[in-house]
Amino acid sequence: MRHERIVIIGAGPAGVSAAIQCQRLGVSPCLLDRDGQAGGLIGNAWRIENLAGVTPCDGPAMAGRFQESLARFNLAVERAVVERVGHASTGLLVEGSMGLIAAGAVILAPGTRPLSLDMPGISGATTRVFFEVRDLLRHGARPNSVLVIGGGEAACDYALSLAAVGASVTVVMRSGSPRACRRLVDAVAGTPAITVCAKTTPRTYAEGPASATLEVDTPEGEACLRAEGILIAIGRVSRVPDLLDLDFGSARTTEILPFPGAPLFIAGDARHGGLGQLAMALGDGVAAATRAVATIT
Ligand SMILES: Cc1cc2nc3c(=O)[nH]c(=O)nc-3n(C[C@H](O)[C@H](O)[C@H](O)COP(=O)(O)OP(=O)(O)OC[C@H]3O[C@@H](n4cnc5c(N)ncnc54)[C@H](O)[C@@H]3O)c2cc1C
Repeated sequence: MRHERIVIIGAGPAGVSAAIQCQRLGVSPCLLDRDGQAGGLIGNAWRIENLAGVTPCDGPAMAGRFQESLARFNLAVERAVVERVGHASTGLLVEGSMGLIAAGAVILAPGTRPLSLDMPGISGATTRVFFEVRDLLRHGARPNSVLVIGGGEAACDYALSLAAVGASVTVVMRSGSPRACRRLVDAVAGTPAITVCAKTTPRTYAEGPASATLEVDTPEGEACLRAEGILIAIGRVSRVPDLLDLDFGSARTTEILPFPGAPLFIAGDARHGGLGQLAMALGDGVAAATRAVATIT
């Protein structure tokens, strides 16, 4: 079995910042990510402008900066999908596509997974439904039309990214107006390619060879919306419960910890849920790494 002093799960902002801090403190970490590269969710962002002292840029550029930061510290991301973290006789056992790793300490920074719509047609095999804008844009040619479902920050952000690449975007939301920061709401309102359908509830989904169809209830009655793709942004939840062995019981997953009796530390959106921000993830990474290194040395 492979042995590592510290295993970091996830190479988003929290995992990258934890890896750099471990390296600076003299412990070379094993950094695992299912994507095999750094950046995580932030690679989707339309414009990142809320980091004091950092020149604003878009998500792909920020993800590239994280990759460069790792390289400066001689760190690399190992592509692996982690399935479970459990107790070992000493330390912890990390199990996944890379096999078994016995770890002195684990920093869990796997972020969040998206919530889906509980609606006929959406749960089967779909090729036109996406949960992140970069997956939609990776999928093939730039779409001419997209329905974005959701009324929060991510939905607004995704709509702006899609409009910026020439798509005509319809944002479908149950609420009467977007629930996002003023900067995003104003940007959406000022973008002619974005139409907001407020007080609108999706009912059924179907897809054909050329388009996706969403039947919705609007204040004026039933309507049918069509587009080349659908992007669902109705919320995200921590991936931590999916990864932890049951014997961690009901331990809280919202603190950097450590868990009682286990050298396990949680950082970033995995801890904050869908309300996380980049700066919080970066700070968490540093804090978790500092504690993890102190635990094993
Ligand atoms: C559209 C959008 C725009 C945003 N814009 C901003 C902004 O302008 N400013 C701001 O401050 N914040 C913004 N955010 C929030 C920011 O992206 C997150 O707070 C931040 O990315 C959280 O970092 P993280 O490392 O905790 O998690 P993530 O970025 O989600 O990274 C988690 C990583 O873990 C990996 N992973 C997950 N499960 C496994 C597994 N089982 N095995 C191996 N690897 C795994 C994933 O591949 C991923 O790389 C935005 C978010 C979105 C969706």
